[in-house]
Amino acid sequence: MSETARARCDAVVVGAGFSGLHMLHRLRQAGFNARVFEAGSGVGGTWYWNRYPGARCDIESMEYSYSFSDALQQEWEWTERFASQPEILRYAEHVADRFDLKRDITFDTRVEKAAFDEEACRWRIDTDGGETVEATALIMATGCLSSANLPEFEGRTSFLGETYHTGRWPHDRVDFGGKRLGIIGTGSSAIQAIPIIAAEAEHLTVFQRTANYSIPARNGPLESDYVREIKSEYPDFRARNRLMPAAFGSKGLTRSGAPALADDPTAREARFAERWERGGLGFLGAYNDLLLSRDANETAADFVRARIRDTVKDPEVAERLCPDNVIGCKRICLDTRYFETYNRPNVELLVARTHPIERITPEGVLVKVLNSQTGEREGAREIALDCIVFATGFDAMTGAVLGVDISGRSGRTLLDAWSAGPLTYLGLTTAGFPNLFMITGPGSPSVLTNMIVSIEQHVDWIGDCLEHLRRERLATIEATSEAQDAWVDHVNAVAGQTLMPTCNSWYLGRNIPGKPQVFMPLIGFPPYAEKCAEVAQNGYEGFVLR
Ligand code: FAD
Ligand code: NAP
Repeated sequence: MSETARARCDAVVVGAGFSGLHMLHRLRQAGFNARVFEAGSGVGGTWYWNRYPGARCDIESMEYSYSFSDALQQEWEWTERFASQPEILRYAEHVADRFDLKRDITFDTRVEKAAFDEEACRWRIDTDGGETVEATALIMATGCLSSANLPEFEGRTSFLGETYHTGRWPHDRVDFGGKRLGIIGTGSSAIQAIPIIAAEAEHLTVFQRTANYSIPARNGPLESDYVREIKSEYPDFRARNRLMPAAFGSKGLTRSGAPALADDPTAREARFAERWERGGLGFLGAYNDLLLSRDANETAADFVRARIRDTVKDPEVAERLCPDNVIGCKRICLDTRYFETYNRPNVELLVARTHPIERITPEGVLVKVLNSQTGEREGAREIALDCIVFATGFDAMTGAVLGVDISGRSGRTLLDAWSAGPLTYLGLTTAGFPNLFMITGPGSPSVLTNMIVSIEQHVDWIGDCLEHLRRERLATIEATSEAQDAWVDHVNAVAGQTLMPTCNSWYLGRNIPGKPQVFMPLIGFPPYAEKCAEVAQNGYEGFVLR
């Protein structure tokens, strides 16, 4: 690319995870010149940053991969049912090299600011490297789970030992041997890391605020017959998955069309047990109404709680690990011997109900000690630690987008436009910000799906849209406020028909103090993909094209 083209291009893509890599390839194929900026030193996004022990996919390997190139999906060999972080990172690297993507990616560079110039109909993008680039389109491939959440615990910076965040893990191996560790959080990341850390550390204290449901992954080597079978019909397999509610799992156990309570308890137990034994996220697919009816949901929750009580030898510890919220209102966790880990003599579980964190001290973590019956304070206890792992998640879905100072028409900032929560049309665009696109933005199925499928669907839609603008000699596309309002209402209405907004999940922004609380993802991939296609076929309904 010439110097002029580098300073003035068709599109700037922010982020070089699976979204950014595919977007760059798609743009190039359509003859656009594009540049990608990536804050990290390499490609892979999530799989570049989250190198904590045990990090692994919860979607089966044969599905968590790109479908856009048949040669790629035929040649790549996954080794396990659920791929590990190093293997997924190798895959991202392979894709970047195979399609010669790195030459248009600027690494170690954060996009800080983007302003829309209404006269020129172009975005002006500033990086922390001091570079300014102009582009017709600005495409945020910044990730739903990339802005790490490090809560402001009092005294956090006074701690004299080592600290880590699962989403910002060092590249070199961290040695926990002989150390006293504390891990804060029991979400998916912690549930994967805890069994491995516990086996290595001298002692591990787990600080749990909310207990979580977890299903055994039952990971293992991929059988060559299975791989051959999938590869022999890959396009059809992908197409069937796109018709699934969360865009994965067409080749699993069949769903029961009947409500959970229509089965007698023995049949229901057998159905849950079959899925528990198979392992994986398919557990929640046992019945269609598990996320619609509290009574149905309770049958699945009871089943998991019974497994926790079977596994954890100390009945008091088992009770602390039993969640009491709706199963599935947070992305369900997959584990390998997570609950078994609490039978180890070197692991202690402290829960916020009786031992909430008061502050971090130079030597460790100080917890209050509350009476388990009355909740009254009985004292405090300092847990001496050599190392604290923050497995405290992310400012999800909006954190990374709002991390860039974006201003649209009339200089209005996105932060201001979204002050009461994210407003989008189709989760792809937002009114007042022409030619700004978000890959897997709030208001799209994104985090409720196999994200690679959602990414590919968005990349294709954006690619087609930019080709349409070029063909029709149009300068801008912008969502109307009316279409956007109707879309936001639709996203909320769909969520409101389910149990999903009932717990303190990051889907609702409840993990971040002060964040507006709205249910951000849209439930249901197939009708969404159909709607996006329909909008485009109808001449970009709900948009103004100029
Ligand atoms: P990301 O991979 O997050 O990439 C975004 C990139 O943008 C990052 O590299 C970041 O550095 C960069 N960036 C952000 N802001 C800027 C800026 N201002 N300037 C420059 N660069 C910037 N999904 C599943 O479907 N199945 C799973 O099993 C699964 N497991 C997960 C496990 C973990 C630990 C996490 C955190 C997420 C997981 N996800 C999973 C979701 C996962 O994020 C997606 O599957 C997918 O990798 C997202 O790709 P992306 O490119 O959209 O975003
Ligand atoms: P998370 O699910 O948000 O979990 C964060 C944990 O930290 C929760 O237990 C939370 O408690 C706790 N926490 C946060 N702030 C706290 C505070 N101030 N005090 C005490 N505890 C606090 O984050 P995550 O585990 O990193 O996972 C995020 C998402 O990434 C997942 O839902 C999933 O989509 C994806 N992921 C997937 C996998 C996989 O299996 N492939 C692995 C990791 C991540 P509360 O629950 O009380 O808020």
